[in-house]
Amino acid sequence: MKDSINLLIIIFAIIILILLAIYGHEYDKNKNEWNNGYCSCGGHWKYEQSVEDTYIYRCDNCGKTIEVEEVQAFVVTIKNGV
Ligand SMILES: [Zn+2]
Repeated sequence: MKDSINLLIIIFAIIILILLAIYGHEYDKNKNEWNNGYCSCGGHWKYEQSVEDTYIYRCDNCGKTIEVEEVQAFVVTIKNGV
């Protein structure tokens, strides 16, 4: 009985680690695509629309779109406010 509880704890810990790895990967991907507000072509990301917690931006130069999380939208709000 004790062994099976230990096994459950190990499985639970592995699931948490996998979820953290996926979340970290998504965060890095968003950060790279966002690139401090600049598209890889040199254009600026312009806010287009939001879908639940995801914000969609379109490049004002090449028309490419990206989806980013709320944290980048917050940064844009601050930048625009200054
Ligand atoms: Zn672009």
